[in-house]
Amino acid sequence: MTSPTTTLTNGGAWLLEEPPSSIFTPEQLSDEHRLVAQTTDEFVTAEVLPNLDRLENKDWELARHLIHRCGELGLLGVDAPEEYGGLALDKTSSVVVAEHISRSASFAVTFGGQTNLCILPITMFGTEDQQRRYLPRLVTGDIIGAYALSESSSGSDALAARTRATKQPDGSWILSGEKMWISNGGFADLFIVFANVDGEKFTAFLVERTFPGFSSGNEEHKMGLHGSSTTPVVLQDVPVPATNVLGEIGRGHKVALNTLNFGRFKLGAMCVGGCRMMIAESARYGSQRKQFNQPIASFGAIKHKLGEMVARTYALESLVYRLAGVADGALADTAKSEKGGAVARAFEELAVESAIAKVFGSEVLSYVVDETVQIHGGNGFVSDYPAERHYRDARVNRIFEGTNEINRLLIPGMLVRRAVKGDLALIPAAKRLQDEVLSPSMPSLVDGDEALGAELRTIGAFKKVALMVLGTAMQTYGEKLTDQQEVLSFAADILIDTYAAESAVLRARQARLGGHHAADQHEAAARVYVDGAAARVEAVAKSALAAMADGDTLRTLLAALRRLLKVQPVNAVALRRQLADAATAAPGYIFS
Ligand SMILES: Cc1cc2nc3c(=O)[nH]c(=O)nc-3n(C[C@H](O)[C@H](O)[C@H](O)COP(=O)(O)OP(=O)(O)OC[C@H]3O[C@@H](n4cnc5c(N)ncnc54)[C@H](O)[C@@H]3O)c2cc1C
Repeated sequence: MTSPTTTLTNGGAWLLEEPPSSIFTPEQLSDEHRLVAQTTDEFVTAEVLPNLDRLENKDWELARHLIHRCGELGLLGVDAPEEYGGLALDKTSSVVVAEHISRSASFAVTFGGQTNLCILPITMFGTEDQQRRYLPRLVTGDIIGAYALSESSSGSDALAARTRATKQPDGSWILSGEKMWISNGGFADLFIVFANVDGEKFTAFLVERTFPGFSSGNEEHKMGLHGSSTTPVVLQDVPVPATNVLGEIGRGHKVALNTLNFGRFKLGAMCVGGCRMMIAESARYGSQRKQFNQPIASFGAIKHKLGEMVARTYALESLVYRLAGVADGALADTAKSEKGGAVARAFEELAVESAIAKVFGSEVLSYVVDETVQIHGGNGFVSDYPAERHYRDARVNRIFEGTNEINRLLIPGMLVRRAVKGDLALIPAAKRLQDEVLSPSMPSLVDGDEALGAELRTIGAFKKVALMVLGTAMQTYGEKLTDQQEVLSFAADILIDTYAAESAVLRARQARLGGHHAADQHEAAARVYVDGAAARVEAVAKSALAAMADGDTLRTLLAALRRLLKVQPVNAVALRRQLADAATAAPGYIFS
């Protein structure tokens, strides 16, 4: 199953290029993709949602059973090779499953622990022997997997793990240490454990629960995700066979980071599913709940919320599927035997975009759950309604898979590193832009007559603003740029809004040019998103430039910024109302 061809703009190149002529969108999902979505949806509706209370009461036998059911339905093997029982489907299928499984946030974490954090690293880095020993049972759900990287003293600084691995004369290993916050920790059978060999060679090991000296601690008392297991894991002189080193000694960071690259992309997809569900619940509640003799959904203030929830979700969904298309394009010609390594390489190349999907997804979801609670009023604050649980469950997305602060630093950081290495022509582009912005004849934006032409030009301006901020930062701080976290985070915000806005506009444009029946709604969502992004990009760029320049230089840069972002505002109030009314009538998220 392969997605339609997509322009291959990998590894941040989109920042320097004209928008691609086409991107992969949910409207292009094949019948097989839709069948995967339907299978996942039916499973969640019939087997997970009716059992949420049991999961929240930590019925791990049920969690195991549900994972086993996912195995029977083929949902665990989407990314696994066929010779070990997997289906080796495309990454779009993987996104579809992630999106639809996430209607229960707790079960989605259990599922993600199995698939993204265990099956995938073994598929990407396992030897033939390791894949043969573990993948068939993981793919059927006969055994449960987990990923043990974090420790109490090393979360963001994960490579500073204290867990030690000591080589024995026969080539086997003894592992000692304690891991923290491990998803599926209470009942998993197989753990990917990261430890330092000789105190410095960070390495991944496959550790079975039955190995002597292995135990898991008590369940954490969490704010949310009560239906997923999170425990410490204790390794007391645990013997691990020589054949259970995953990847190479001293190359554990490759396993850890590539797993996270893919995991971040999938987290973005899971957030899409959460947002869609929340929009449906808010739209339903808004049309049923009456105040002042009217459904609250008829009030402009509520329409504003619903319309904005839809527009941001649309941008997120467009970004995630675009990325899935890029990944599938990159993997299309890969021989099956090469697939695991090729996936790792593809997502290493797409690390910037995956980090964007993670930060953007978790923050759109945060916004959407917060407004869901608000639309529910007092009922949003009590546990009789699901809004309260969604709100608590969503919060951790900004913390795990690399906190949003760390991911924000990575986004421009990785682009700058690529630029310095010469892999991305960012430096000459920033130089050209500098000459251009200093020229008083620089053209400002004008409306165009092509579909979403004005929005496309605005996005061109966003890219220039991103280059202006990054170029000024590189010039101002040189090698010390990594110390300037505030400026890097500002740059990340601009890059995130740019990629999201471009994805939304390209999708809406395709809907318009393809004569899609809901093209007006697509355009409304894209326009609302670009309108909000323009205000954010301008504010953030101002803050960044003011931190780096002063006097005449700052005045020149700010004048250039004003010229670049001279954007005709749209009537976003009317467009949000249009989106809100459509969501209320459905009721739900009307796209895809
Ligand atoms: C429910 C749940 C499930 C989890 N599942 C797993 C799992 O399955 N496997 C696993 O290995 N881990 C798991 N984790 C752990 C998770 O990945 C870590 O909590 C996360 O990486 C953050 O690490 P920390 O908690 O130590 O926070 P810290 O690293 O102490 O960060 C605290 C704050 O400081 C900021 N910060 C830290 N360093 C910097 C820096 N250099 N610059 C700027 N700001 C910085 C952070 O952004 C954050 O805001 C899970 C956590 C939770 C809550």
